[in-house]
This record gives sequence, C-alpha cells and structure tokens, in this order.
Amino acid sequence: SRWPLRGLLRIRSITIFATDPSPFLNRPESARQTAMAPRFVDVLVPVALDQTYSYRVPAGLELAPGDLVSVPLGARGATMGVVWAENPAPNPRLHNRLKDVADKLDVPPLKPELRKFVDWVADYTLAPRGMVLRMALRMGEHLGPARERVGVRLAGPRPARMTPARARVLSVFTDGMTRAKGDAAREAGVSTGVIDGLIDEGTLETVVLPPERVTRPPDPDFRKPEFSLGQLAAADALRTVVDQGGYIVTLLDGVTGSGKTEVYFEAVAENIRKKRQTLILMPEIALTTQSLDRFTARFGTRPAEWHSQVSPRLRARTWAAIANNEVSVVVGARSALFLPYADLGLIVVDEEHDPAYKQEDGAHYHARDMAVVRGNVAKIPVVLASATPSVESEVNARRGRYKRIHLPERFGGAHLPSIEAIDMRREGPPRGRFIAPRLAEAVKNALESKEQALLFLNRRGFAPLTLCRACGFRLQCPNCDAWLVDHRFKRRLVCHHCGFAMPPPAECPQCHATESFAPIGPGVERLEQEAAELFPGARILVLSSDLVESMERLRQELDDVAEGRFDVVIGTQLVAKGHHFPKLNLVGIVDADLGLGNGDPRAAERTFQLLHQVVGRAGREEGRGVGFLQTHQPEHPVMKALILGDREAFYSSEIALREKTAYPPFGRLAGLVVTANDRHGAEAYARTLVSTSPISDHVRILGPAEAPIAVVRGRHRFRLLVKAPRAFDLSAYLRQWLADAPKPRGNVRLEVDVDPQSFF
Ligand code: ADP
Ligand code: ZN
Repeated sequence: SRWPLRGLLRIRSITIFATDPSPFLNRPESARQTAMAPRFVDVLVPVALDQTYSYRVPAGLELAPGDLVSVPLGARGATMGVVWAENPAPNPRLHNRLKDVADKLDVPPLKPELRKFVDWVADYTLAPRGMVLRMALRMGEHLGPARERVGVRLAGPRPARMTPARARVLSVFTDGMTRAKGDAAREAGVSTGVIDGLIDEGTLETVVLPPERVTRPPDPDFRKPEFSLGQLAAADALRTVVDQGGYIVTLLDGVTGSGKTEVYFEAVAENIRKKRQTLILMPEIALTTQSLDRFTARFGTRPAEWHSQVSPRLRARTWAAIANNEVSVVVGARSALFLPYADLGLIVVDEEHDPAYKQEDGAHYHARDMAVVRGNVAKIPVVLASATPSVESEVNARRGRYKRIHLPERFGGAHLPSIEAIDMRREGPPRGRFIAPRLAEAVKNALESKEQALLFLNRRGFAPLTLCRACGFRLQCPNCDAWLVDHRFKRRLVCHHCGFAMPPPAECPQCHATESFAPIGPGVERLEQEAAELFPGARILVLSSDLVESMERLRQELDDVAEGRFDVVIGTQLVAKGHHFPKLNLVGIVDADLGLGNGDPRAAERTFQLLHQVVGRAGREEGRGVGFLQTHQPEHPVMKALILGDREAFYSSEIALREKTAYPPFGRLAGLVVTANDRHGAEAYARTLVSTSPISDHVRILGPAEAPIAVVRGRHRFRLLVKAPRAFDLSAYLRQWLADAPKPRGNVRLEVDVDPQSFF
C-alpha cells in the first residue's frame, strides 16, 4: 500500500524476529509431562532487547496475543511482559525446558494496533523492541487494584456526648451523602480523630467507595464559541474529516492568535460525539494551566493529563482508565502516543514544528512523525497544528499528501505584529550592554502606556563564558568540551551538558589573580540587571527553565504575566510556546542571530520558527504588536522573511535548498554517535564501522568526525552522518550493517539516531 507519510516512511511488513529460547531454562522435568500437547507463547519484555522469549503456558491459563503476563526472567525474577505471539512449535528439544508463564495480569490486553505500532517504531528507529514496549507500559509498578478509598456516612443515633466539633461534623452529614474521611474532616474543620470517634460510637459508618474517576466525561456542547467566518469554515472542514474517519493527515495552518485551539476543539468535540478517544499531543512545557483551562472552558471538565509531572499512582490509574475506555480525551506529552487506547479515533499534534517532539534519549523517535504512523496503523485522522509548520509538513501539504486548512487572520480583528530590524553593526548598544537604544526606547514607551514588553534571549544564566582578564584563562567544564555558564541567581558555574556545578572560584586557577573574572556575553540573568537599570521601577520577571522550581510554579508565573502583574518579561524559549498574554504588545529579540551559526542543517528553519513564534506573542488582543530583531545580518533570508512577514518566501527558498542538497524531506539522514572514555577508542570504533559499511550506490557516509562538542560527561564523541535518497530503506540498511559489524566493546557505545534533529 502507498504510504503518504512525509515521503520518508514507508509501510514495511512487520519483521518477525527469530524467537530465542528463554535464556534461563528449566531442568527437564519428566513429572510435568502430560498427555495434552503443551502450548507456548512468545513474550516481549520491557527491557532493552529486541527478541521475544518463549514460555510454556501452564494448564488452565488462557492466553492470547496482547495479554499482559508475569514471567520469570533470569536474575530479574518475575517481570511484566506482553504475549506477542502464539508459538505453535518451538524447538521440541526445548519443550520441557522452557519456563512457565507465572501469571496473567488483570488488565485489558494490548490491542493489535498498539503492538503493531511498537513493532513499527522499533523497526524504524532501530530501538530495541523491548525498549519501545516499555514506553507503552509506563504505568510503573503501581499497576494493580487501586488503593481502596473509604467513605463515611451517617448511620446511627447521635452520640451520647456532643461537642461543637462533633456537631459540625453531623451538620455536614445531614445531607445524607457519603464522603471520604479526609474530605469530611476538612469540610467540618475538624481533625480526622473526631470522625473516628463518631465511627466508634456508631453515629457514622464506613463504606468502601468506588475508585475515583480519572476524569468526568467531557461535554462536546458545553460552551461552543462564536466563530468568525474563517474559523467556521475551518472548523466545518475539520469536523467533516473526523466524521468521515479513516486515515488522513490535516495541516491546520493558522497564524499566531488565529484560534487554532478553538478550531481543533471542534474536531475533538465531533470525536467525543462519536464516542471515540482523542489524544492531544503538546510539547511538555506547553502543558500549562492555560491550555488545560481552555479545554475545561470548552468541554466542562478537565482532560486526562499525561506528562512527567503526573504522580506514579495517578499515572497507573490513568493508564488503566484509558485501556478501559473510561477516559475520553488525553492531553499529553510525546510519551502519550504509546498509551493503550481502547478506541483511539483522533490525534491532534499541537505546535507540530516544535523540536521538543524529538526524544533524544533511550529510543530516538519524533513524536509528530510517529503520531502520523499511529494514525495510519489505527486508520484514524491526524491533525497537525502550527503557525510555522515544519518544512517536512509544509512539503507534504504543498504536494497534496496532507490536506491544508488555513486560518490566515488573527481572531477578533487583531493585527499580526509588525517587525523591524535593529542593525547591531550600526545602532548597537555601548560595550558590555545588550539592549540597543532604539529597543530600550520602545520598551519605555510601552511601559508608559501600561503595556508589557518581552525581551527574548535563548540563553540561560548570567553569561555563557567567564574569562580571567589578567591571563585570558576561560573557565571550562572538567567533564565536557564546554565553557561553564555563570548562573548568578544560584551562585554557581554550571555545565549545560553534564550538569557539573561549582561555586565561583575566589581566584584564577591559572594566574591566581583575584577579582579578575569578567563575564563574556549575555544570558537572561545579565539582561535582567541591564533592564533593571534601564527601566527603574518596572516589575521584571525572568522565565528560564533552570529557574522553574515546579510545573505548578511556572503555571502560576505565566498566569501572573497574563494578568498583568509583571511589566517586563525576560525569557528563554520557555516563553515561546503558545502562551497568550493579552497585555503584551512589544517583543524584543535580543540576539536574533543566535541559532543561525551552529552548522545544523535545520538552523534556518528553527530560527525562523522560534522567532516567529516569540514575536507572535505580541499584540494578540489590544493594540498593535511590534517586534524588534537585534541582528548583525538584517539581509539574511530568515530576517528578511520575518521583517516582510513573507512566510511563503522563506519556505520556498528553504525547500529549494533542501531539494538541491538532498536534505530532509528530500533525502534521508541517520546519525551514528560513537562515544568512549578515551578519544582513540571512540575514533577507532567509528573507523571500524565505516570500513564495514555495506557497499551501496545510494548511501553516502560522512565522517567519522569529532563531534562539535567533542567531550560530554568525560566521554569522547565521534559522529557519522549517513545520507540516502528519500525512497531508500535506510533503517533496513542500518540494521544489516550493524548486525554484521563488530560490536562495540569495553566502554565504547554506539547510538543510532534515525532522522536526527540535533547535530552537536
Ligand atoms: P493560536 O493557537 O492560533 O495562536 P489561540 O487558539 O491561542 O490561537 O487563540 C488566540 C486567542 O483568541 C485565545 O485567547 C482564544 O481563546 C481566542 N479566541 C480564538 N477564537 C475565538 C472565538 N471564536 N471566540 C472567542 N475567543 C476566541
Ligand atoms: Zn560538563
């Protein structure tokens, strides 16, 4: 069958891996021989292994593919696994030596759809299947019966001895309702001891409550917005897509502030009416109260949430509720793709261009791409939403492989911000300063009109480099090929690659000069210092991921900004994502060139998307938004496209360049990163790999080259880049290659990254 996914992925028959016998075999046990032919299953376990293991099914146990089981696995003892296939005929010599499945778990089986997806992702990314399965079983060790909830209700006569506290409890219970003990105590303003006393007297009695629901069912008609004509047309088109069902990818392409969320909520509403489940994927950091509140306002109840901050217990309950079809809508980060939906009918990928969708550790996968795969496997619609689509999605929309739905205008007549360049070569700030006079002036004017300003700099900390003025020594990480970043708020010098941190040294380690250190370049903390001097009295907030104490705190701070409790926000890319700040009309990009010079083939695309999104925070409600780009290269195509508001020009030139150079989506890439404790070990294995690569007219192997950051966490790094034409099955080539190549030995490690997004 034809596979329309961005032209890169093609349906491949699912590889059935040779099943190995259990590595730890039972002794032959003649007593266990029965007249009945024994049955066997192949079980996949959630560890970093590709193959399944065969087990014997004990008499009386009914097992089918997808069932969750507990199996013995060597030194690990009992391990959770999933029956991947029946195995009618394992090697007869092994029959009596295979171990028994220990138990079948009381949870719904993983559907064929999810198993096929796990196989597909593993096959494509070269991650071991067990590692991919682990993402589907990430409900942790808390799976099992939910903790019993005990409720209390009125049962008997009033107690012999009345106290004011007891009276308050009784008045709470006069409505005849059953309450959790803690809730009742809180409502009555007493300790739970008072409740216990009343239970002892027989006035109250305990009952077992049904487990708490993860969410209540959303109401598709709870509060429908009044749509503009453009929104109405887009919402209708999306509703039709959901109504017709089946696999189709739609790019919801709307400018910032056009109401993409409200519009795709109509697709969600339609899917709820069809009583099917919806997954809304978001970049983790965008999962703020704001987005969840908007869901609640539209559907009358909160969605189920799935991200790293969900507690293990709630995680387990959510997992089970999704598998039991008790949850209708999940809003989640990329790992939510692997949940065991009972009846998934729609996937929405919000901010589909966001680089945070790429998982870089464990299994390397891109959640947007895999969402499209999951949609194809499940035969359901997928909606990708963005104001700045990835080049991949843009190409697919231009070629008609994706359906495009346009929202060309901001909602409510708001204007898109106008963007101006500040040429830092001619009108830059004085030495040691980073805010140009023209930008400072604009911020002052905004503050005088009681508007907010956002200064954007994608650099955490105070200064990216600290240098001894006496001898030129630069403070470097002892474990990495990287400078230490000065984090003054925390009084630490920190390595952004390995997390190494130390207090600022009292003297230069080289020349022993004191007070000789000078910060070089700005981070957001240094900008705050400058802003405090330039704008006295302004309420300034720095938003940066390293300063975020908790998701709750971040949510609070974003709300504070939205409600106008700060005048100047200084932020890293944390502030770029989908937030809606009604009083913000001015955005200043402090260093627009920052992402352009790093040799990454996606540098231009990334910079365009990021700056467009950040500037798009301005002028979303009242007034006219203005954006300033401080740049040394105002003639760069990215800057020109931003200033002229000419998105199409940017995409056209970027697409032409990718086509000419055969970079994605017109060619395929894989990154191979070899690391070792010593430079020689890493380089030697990288060379061995190249010398054993299968000969192919289609494949070009670049490298090995020392990685741009040559040492991380004390590990030396070499990179290979493998390039192939679009129609070439690069995963199969890599698998063949790595199966035949000598395995890395000792402390040498190899990481494979198909469709790499980062090249450091
Ligand atoms: P986008 O995601 O396209 O940047 P949003 O969905 O965040 O845009 O919408 C921008 C703002 O406009 C939000 O506050 C949203 O609630 C509001 N909005 C959009 N459409 C409507 C509508 N039809 N009725 C009321 N408010 C709307
Ligand atoms: Zn380091």
